[in-house]
Amino acid sequence: FGPTIQGEGALIGQPTIFVRTGGCDYRCSWCDTLHAVDSQYRDEWKPMNAAEIFTEVEKLSGGNPLLVTFSGGNPAIQNLAPLIALGKAKGYKFALETQGSIAQDWFADLDVLTLSPKPPSSGMATDWGKLDACIAVAKSIAPSPLIPLPLAGGEGKEGALAPDRERGQWDKTSAISLKFVVFDEADYAYAKSAAARYPHLPVYLQPGNVVSDQPPLPTHPPQGGGQGWGEEIQPVMDRMRWLVAQVVADSWYEATVLPQLHVMLWGN
Ligand code: SF4
Repeated sequence: FGPTIQGEGALIGQPTIFVRTGGCDYRCSWCDTLHAVDSQYRDEWKPMNAAEIFTEVEKLSGGNPLLVTFSGGNPAIQNLAPLIALGKAKGYKFALETQGSIAQDWFADLDVLTLSPKPPSSGMATDWGKLDACIAVAKSIAPSPLIPLPLAGGEGKEGALAPDRERGQWDKTSAISLKFVVFDEADYAYAKSAAARYPHLPVYLQPGNVVSDQPPLPTHPPQGGGQGWGEEIQPVMDRMRWLVAQVVADSWYEATVLPQLHVMLWGN
């Protein structure tokens, strides 16, 4: 679907078309895309091969190449190499969002890889060996012009932000980033220790957004806010303010804290 904008992480705000794949090897307690995960929705899924998907992408883009973002479910359970090859031949760029539980050789063909290991509140356990494997495969991705400085490793800029990082390492992996959803202290501690494990990777923190046990956000917020909108989005914004306070108190200056822009604009 799209074109729209990427709502979170390193590419926030950038125009993209999403390809949402069905199926996931996880079952996070707060999954907000169960319609792409739970087999009870299988009848709504549309089996498509690479050529069919690319035809749809071209239809949506009007033939103007742009960024294509794979989301899910977990797109890493698919073989997306043929689709990437078709798109790259026409000038499209490709980004992948995955929890990092499955490594595929075709990660090396991507332009941007976002790894989003799931924190304790998800109820899932991280297999660090698998996450390591994802990073190892994707390490050959060139620094991406899609990611703005200083994260893309521009001359001298990264040194100013992180003087203790090895320069070559930082440059090489700048197209890979870590994104953590944070609901509470335990999630925050998880994000900190995971980030410490991969000191060369940019880190994005995002306040958790519980769809089920808080008032639903309106599907279409009134123009300029309007009555009720502030109250509806309040729980996520409260968590975001708390998260900013944590990061500042810890002097965790390598982290970037971002909301889900699409939720602010369009609700859940
Ligand atoms: Fe849902 Fe993502 Fe968790 Fe899969 S990894 S269950 S898609 S939140």
